[in-house]
Amino acid sequence: MNKLVIGVLGLQGAVTEHIKQIESTGNIGITIKKPEQLAEIDGLVLPGGESTTMRKLIDRYGFLDPLKQFSAQQKPIFGTCAGMVLVANELSDSSDAHLQLMDVRVKRNAFGRQKDSFEAELDVKGLEIPYKAVFIRAPYIEYAGDNVEILASYEDRIVAARQGHILASAFHPELTNDVRFVQLFVNMVSESKKVILK
Ligand code: GLN
Repeated sequence: MNKLVIGVLGLQGAVTEHIKQIESTGNIGITIKKPEQLAEIDGLVLPGGESTTMRKLIDRYGFLDPLKQFSAQQKPIFGTCAGMVLVANELSDSSDAHLQLMDVRVKRNAFGRQKDSFEAELDVKGLEIPYKAVFIRAPYIEYAGDNVEILASYEDRIVAARQGHILASAFHPELTNDVRFVQLFVNMVSESKKVILK
């Protein structure tokens, strides 16, 4: 099987861990530092970090339109934590949403101080055995449109979802040795490539 090439937006945040995890699925992970590199990849991860900082850097390095164009080509995008904030159509605490690629409203830093960072066993749609998820100052999805598939919830809050070629998780899949969640994204990239090649 040909290897997939999956990029990780490398402006800020947990980049190296994602690259390692992509490589552990047998595919190629590359750090994306310039918009031109988007042409080389089959799918893109928007990592965790700080969404406001990431947005500033997206603007500074001219990524806003190229990222929207990448999505318009139906190429898969996986937003993790701050990345989930970036893909949302709406944010609960701000009128300035970022890439607006997914019909969800996201609440930032939403689990409160006691739960700044925690682990939880989740039942994830598509995974047979519960998945231990790592949350760090995590957001959650407060509202999801009808065309959004809910993949996991924690204490009745939506923490993973998919809409077509966009996948989002409130947790950090790259911080565990369990590659099953990132494998769901790799499968989406593989499927989309088949469709695009047809
Ligand atoms: N709270 C951060 C934000 O809203 C996300 C935290 C994270 O990515 N670990 O950008």
